[in-house]
Amino acid sequence: EPQLSGDFATLMSWADKVRRLHIRANAETPLDADTARKFGAEGIGLCRTEHMFFDPARIGAVRQMIMSESEGGRRDALAKLLPFQRDDFRELFRIMAGLPVTIRLLDPPLHEFLPHREEELAEVAAHLGADLAAMKRRAADLSEANPMLGHRGCRLGVTYPEIYEMQARAIFEAAIETAKETGKAPVPEIMIPLVAAKKELELTRAHVDKVAKEVFAEAGQTIEYLVGTMIELPRACLTADAIAEVADFFSFGTNDLTQTTFGLSRDDAGKFLPYYVEKGILPKDPFVSLDPDGVGALVRIAKDKGRGVKPDLKLGICGEHGGDPASIQFCESVGLDYVSCSPYRVPVARLAAAQAALAGAVDRTA
Ligand code: PEP
Ligand code: MG
Repeated sequence: EPQLSGDFATLMSWADKVRRLHIRANAETPLDADTARKFGAEGIGLCRTEHMFFDPARIGAVRQMIMSESEGGRRDALAKLLPFQRDDFRELFRIMAGLPVTIRLLDPPLHEFLPHREEELAEVAAHLGADLAAMKRRAADLSEANPMLGHRGCRLGVTYPEIYEMQARAIFEAAIETAKETGKAPVPEIMIPLVAAKKELELTRAHVDKVAKEVFAEAGQTIEYLVGTMIELPRACLTADAIAEVADFFSFGTNDLTQTTFGLSRDDAGKFLPYYVEKGILPKDPFVSLDPDGVGALVRIAKDKGRGVKPDLKLGICGEHGGDPASIQFCESVGLDYVSCSPYRVPVARLAAAQAALAGAVDRTA
């Protein structure tokens, strides 16, 4: 049972008195959300919804959705997924009890959703009333040489908007149900992944706003919500002023930002990178500790550009670096509002945020 007690709890309460950064957790399961709260998280900074789609009860419908060549077919499959997602979000809202919950719309590397084995292909074909050869063609059309640089993140929501519409509906319906049950409406923070261009956020946001209007009209009730974006590509940093015009918040995805700034695969970081660190070519593993010179410079540019347009723009970080003390020090110096890390790193993050604040790390001129 994760629970802070005794001297440790006292130490944490001292840390909380001096820190400026808010601490959130990356969580998508009820267990993670519960653990995060017990460790003192002040909200969820990243709920990765793609993880929810791998549940054995859902993966069949997910495959039908992605393999269907018609919008109608995709919508039929999405209708099967809606009740699952609504339950997912209602449970998170219940556990977080009014604390902020940032829900990121689907961001899969597409290949993880594609049927690969013959029997998987046959099953999808049977559900869709398609023939096996057509399904093999579709799977081949959708498969990519570089899925991590391909049809993922908002690119999926731009090309298949019905996916994000289903998720937005699930979020709003769950929020309204939670408001009815508890008397307290959650304020969902809906986050769009892998944005590189303002137009991507504009388009996906328009779908979210449209669904919000529909659900509020059906329920006879409105709730507040935010729509923001991950900033995890160099181009997003460099055009953050334009993107800020259509974003309520930014959250830095420093895993992808490190990958794309260095041109270094995050999935192969164990290969030659340790040699680089050993030889001092790089001072530290940039996937563990935020690289201040490259990735950090881009974060500063994005902050300046974003807050230049919206001085109160809420800024957070949700890459792995959000739980690393040296990186948290950097986040303090840039003036982010919160860091979001894995639930078990929340106590470390609370302490690191306090140390950063005590070190007077806020560079007010930066
Ligand atoms: C990131 O890229 O830093 C991030 C938080 O998103 P993910 O790790 O899910 O790509
Ligand atoms: Mg990412």
